[in-house]
Amino acid sequence: MQPTAPAAIPPAVASKRSPSPLSKSGRERYFPDATDAQWNDWRWQFRNRVTTVDELVKLLPKLAPVADVQREILRDFRMGIPPYYLALIDPDDPEDPILKHAAPLQGEYAFRDVGEEDPLGEEQYSPVPGITHRYPDRVLMVISNSCAIYCRYCTRKRIMYEDAVPDVEIDRMVEYIARTPAVRDVVVSGGDPLTCGTKKLESILSKLRAIPHLEIIRIGTRVPVSLPQRVDDELVAMLQKYHPLWVNVHFNHPRELTPEAAAACDRLSRAGIPLNNQSVLLKGINDDVATMRALVTGLMKMRVRPYYLYQCDPVRGAEHFRTPIAKGLEIIEGLRGHVSGLAIPTYVIDGPGGGGKIPVQPQYLLHYDAARKKALLRNFQHRVFEYSEPDAAQPHSGELRPARPSQVVPNANGAGAADGKKRANGNGNGNAAPKKARVRADGQPVVGKSSWVHRGHSREERLRSAEASTRGADAPTPAT
Ligand code: SF4
Repeated sequence: MQPTAPAAIPPAVASKRSPSPLSKSGRERYFPDATDAQWNDWRWQFRNRVTTVDELVKLLPKLAPVADVQREILRDFRMGIPPYYLALIDPDDPEDPILKHAAPLQGEYAFRDVGEEDPLGEEQYSPVPGITHRYPDRVLMVISNSCAIYCRYCTRKRIMYEDAVPDVEIDRMVEYIARTPAVRDVVVSGGDPLTCGTKKLESILSKLRAIPHLEIIRIGTRVPVSLPQRVDDELVAMLQKYHPLWVNVHFNHPRELTPEAAAACDRLSRAGIPLNNQSVLLKGINDDVATMRALVTGLMKMRVRPYYLYQCDPVRGAEHFRTPIAKGLEIIEGLRGHVSGLAIPTYVIDGPGGGGKIPVQPQYLLHYDAARKKALLRNFQHRVFEYSEPDAAQPHSGELRPARPSQVVPNANGAGAADGKKRANGNGNGNAAPKKARVRADGQPVVGKSSWVHRGHSREERLRSAEASTRGADAPTPAT
């Protein structure tokens, strides 16, 4: 597949937005000497990342009591906080979600020996270094061992100590994809691939795009969140030459949805790059319905589709971020029906040791009887409905039926004229007489007409009892 010619990038409306108030005040507080030119230059932001405990404590003196603990933690996993991201931290809030994302804190130290180095078993599925080939038609390709920010819960902490991925290794990854026709989709990841220079990234993308059987290229990046200045016109003009190209971003909290981040996403969207978001469910950061609703609805406004909500992996030093599965189910339950289906991510748990993503959802199918072609479903309000499947054993004959008397609509002369649609109401004006709706004792409309579940009680009683049983806890689906 040949690269398509780059189209002119229309001016991004969102890039004219002013910075978020927190970012603006944070910049003034933490980096008062930075000029606009420096602040908006991703290279300056990258060079001036906060990487040592001394720098961090100087900017956030309230962290001084944990400085020794932080030094210990940094022996295990590095730190890097771009000035832009640090400027979002509220210095007066010890529970600040942005702080918890980026700074090593007590919990990480307490759990430094709990968890696994490679919780997803990526190494087991690696035919050549840097490639993980777990699913039949797609591979993960790790081209960078560095990130703009080092998230404290990162699943791939283990690779962040190594040198830059050598070109020869990247060539071997490309060769593997080229000689494996089953691969039609590659996720270019890291580390963060957008920390590579634009030329290096283009050289990799052009080699991938030259592979005839490779249909889709996806890039996984947290740069629009942590270093949105990196998404500049030069990068976007390069990326859009390699369509079909998708970008997966990684916003976890509504406070990350700043005007700067929105402008970066807007530039990518305007280049025809679909954006999907992968969040990680993190205790004390985003593990409540209100936060997640604000996140997913905010993402939709930025034209970013919420894609996955990941259960936090049991990676070493991140145990304090992990939540019970019930918390993820509660969040999905709190989204379904309350926000557009487009805004609801799929909640997934990565199977330990390489099981791949396993979707986990609240139970909406309460009972399914395949033999009787019936299902008992509940909706987001815990109302229960009987649903009948089509019955192939009783097909319609295909013959046209004569119009029934009730389907005859009188014409202007009062004579009958069948149209098969409207019902006469007996007063000769042709308007349909409203059909009396059947209602249950609680005033809800009756749906369906079966009495197939639990005999001996009225249908209304059974539905009410099923509804009551779904509140509070999801009823399991009995075997069919
Ligand atoms: S940006 Fe991604 S790869 Fe890098 S530390 Fe954060 S989660 Fe890990």
